[in-house]
Amino acid sequence: MLELQSIWEANANIRKFARTTPILYSSLLSDDLGFDLMLKAENLQTTNSFKIRGASNCLIKQKKEMPSLNGVVTASSGNHGQAVAYVANKMGVPAVIVMPETAPKAKSRAVSRWNAQIEFCGKTSRERLARSKEIAQQRGYLEIPSYDHPDVISGQGTIGKEILEQVPDVDIILVPIGGGGLISGIATLVKNLRPKTQVIGVEPAGSNSMTVSLDKEEITQLEKTHSIADGLLTMKPGFLTFPLVKKYVDRTMLVSEEEILQAIRLIIEHFKTVPEPSGAVSVAAALKEDWGKGKKVVSVVSGGNFDMDRLPGFITNRS
Ligand SMILES: *Cc1c(COP(=O)(O)O)cnc(C)c1O
Repeated sequence: MLELQSIWEANANIRKFARTTPILYSSLLSDDLGFDLMLKAENLQTTNSFKIRGASNCLIKQKKEMPSLNGVVTASSGNHGQAVAYVANKMGVPAVIVMPETAPKAKSRAVSRWNAQIEFCGKTSRERLARSKEIAQQRGYLEIPSYDHPDVISGQGTIGKEILEQVPDVDIILVPIGGGGLISGIATLVKNLRPKTQVIGVEPAGSNSMTVSLDKEEITQLEKTHSIADGLLTMKPGFLTFPLVKKYVDRTMLVSEEEILQAIRLIIEHFKTVPEPSGAVSVAAALKEDWGKGKKVVSVVSGGNFDMDRLPGFITNRS
């Protein structure tokens, strides 16, 4: 199991790359809601998602142990791929990002900005993972998975430390779940230091593998996933993340596509900041319940990357 100590180490490691993101608050909105809603704005993080925390911790730690490290490789083309490319570039380490042949141009452009080599391979994540493993073996590169790695989870846990410092009396923390790395790190830290704070995971109703796995008490693979929250389309929880979620997370909530869109609009209107759909699910969940007068609710807005062409579709009110 993940030790608290590894999150303190991560916190010391990542500060060259990751910033302490602000807590955003709107007193007008909180008055209307009847509880205090605060956003942990990881959409304003370096490379615009929290993924830089886990990626930088993993790379820095491994480089200390293996100064002759040849390079890094990952099969993830989204926010994690960007974070790996960014950190590797800053550290002068070659990086390969394996992407599907069908990847949108915006994604390959975002990665090439940081001089990473792009390797196009197949259409399924299974093909990409196999290719990534092959590159790691052939070239002696370190593979950095997007959630199921102890250094990645510890890096994401540094968000928990910041929240407890910024909002010491926080009652509820709402966290998006994809593979579960983000919430595993946060929950491990928060439940060890302030157990009475509730840590609640949020999944799109169309991509609920953690909720299903918790219900069945074993890692369960979905047959398909669907949501505009494209960072949360994971088919099953990780081997490391599932036991941590089971141990530390109080419960999970599901949100609909319409609730995600409403949350995006509310964030833009009241907080003057722009989330990606995956980052807005935690706010969608906050709006679903009456948490009680004076309660302090922190929603982790995990990222802000999306293709600008999609923005009109996010903010048009179709009801
Ligand atoms: C990766 C990601 C998530 C999910 O994180 P996991 O560690 O896979 O649970 C949530 N939001 C955004 C924006 C992401 O990039």
